[in-house]
Amino acid sequence: MTTQPIDYRLDGIYRQRQEGFFMQRVKLPAGVFSAEQARAIADVSSRFGQGAIHLTTRGSIEIHWLLEGDLIEVKRVLAKVGLTSRGACGGAVRGITCSSQGAAEFPALEAMARRLHRHFVGNPRFERLPKKFKIGVEADTASRRHLIQDVGLVFAGSDTDGTRFDVYLGGGLGREPQAGFLYEAAVNEKRIIPLIEAVARVYAANTPAGKRVKHLIREIGEPEFRRRLTLEPSFNEELPAQAGLPEGLTPAAANRRLEARFFGGVLSAELLAELADFAAAWSGGLLMATADQDIAFHIADTVNLADAAEALKLAGFALDATTFRVCPGAHLCKVGLSPTRDVARTISAAMGPAAKQLTWALSGCPNSCTQPQLAEIGIVSSSLVKDEQGERTPRFDLYRPNSEGLGSAFEHSLTLDELCSKVREIG
Ligand code: SF4
Repeated sequence: MTTQPIDYRLDGIYRQRQEGFFMQRVKLPAGVFSAEQARAIADVSSRFGQGAIHLTTRGSIEIHWLLEGDLIEVKRVLAKVGLTSRGACGGAVRGITCSSQGAAEFPALEAMARRLHRHFVGNPRFERLPKKFKIGVEADTASRRHLIQDVGLVFAGSDTDGTRFDVYLGGGLGREPQAGFLYEAAVNEKRIIPLIEAVARVYAANTPAGKRVKHLIREIGEPEFRRRLTLEPSFNEELPAQAGLPEGLTPAAANRRLEARFFGGVLSAELLAELADFAAAWSGGLLMATADQDIAFHIADTVNLADAAEALKLAGFALDATTFRVCPGAHLCKVGLSPTRDVARTISAAMGPAAKQLTWALSGCPNSCTQPQLAEIGIVSSSLVKDEQGERTPRFDLYRPNSEGLGSAFEHSLTLDELCSKVREIG
């Protein structure tokens, strides 16, 4: 009798491409974490995971190369410093993202992200969803990241009655990208959690397993989706935030933000521990995982910004580099079609000065985890094709932005050589 492998996804764990190895994803609300938490992640990675860390485009951290027998201890070490992975994979509310960490409004955004994180993490009502459920909180619409969430919140002002958000619903990338639509403008924060609960319940009750909110909306139409939301008991509910001390940990950047840049989000335990020490000395003990797979710091008022930048550089960190978002692809991910990190290095070598100024994103399959539809140049590994020698080699689609909404493919099924020629043409 064969036994089914255990499904660890609700604990934020995926099986790696390599048999017997696991990846642990750690949720960081709005990407913010402490030096102590960074040290715990580095410790887990070096003790159990070969020291390999990957920064995701949703401001989460992934620890690769874990063994099944170590997963419980990994969870304990992370939990001791207040880190959770609950719902980081599988049919649950995923990590609450924010790509506006440098915005003046960030303290209000971080506070909302923390409130949502606290409400939905481990909440059994929202852990049996048909598929992932993504929420993002943004300062404005410039990055277009509000369009790719199941629920996208965009800051719409603050007054004595609280903070307001424009609410976008039903966005998502993957094989069938769909931009979210504006459900309602300037929703008071008191209504945000009840409204998201209503969306999640309508989604859970009406959608087959494996499908996102966008599929349900496509199936029944936006008017019917809106009507079903109004029938949910929480739809008209208000949950006023109780008065208390501010919830955000991070002060607004006020031009005191530094970013340590990492090619394709590849980081090591050793470097993360060094960044934890830097944060303890220069940024009030706080680090931020960014949507471009880097680590940022809001430098404390009490220290000199130029000295902080110099300290990062002296430690060997790059502060300036081409933005190139890269997923683990066929190096680690079961469904990856191309060795993304190698491909990205080849593409980078083909870039001239103009190309280096652009933002790039490469995904190892059409799931589009690096958000190529939001980059100035997006690349998706779209298929494997047998070459003349009978070897299956990856083909790539090339994306560029539309005037609004998500970018679309303008070149299809390029070989790596053809792709590099296109890159050289950019100059
Ligand atoms: S884009 Fe595809 S290959 Fe890359 S991490 Fe996502 S699922 Fe894996």
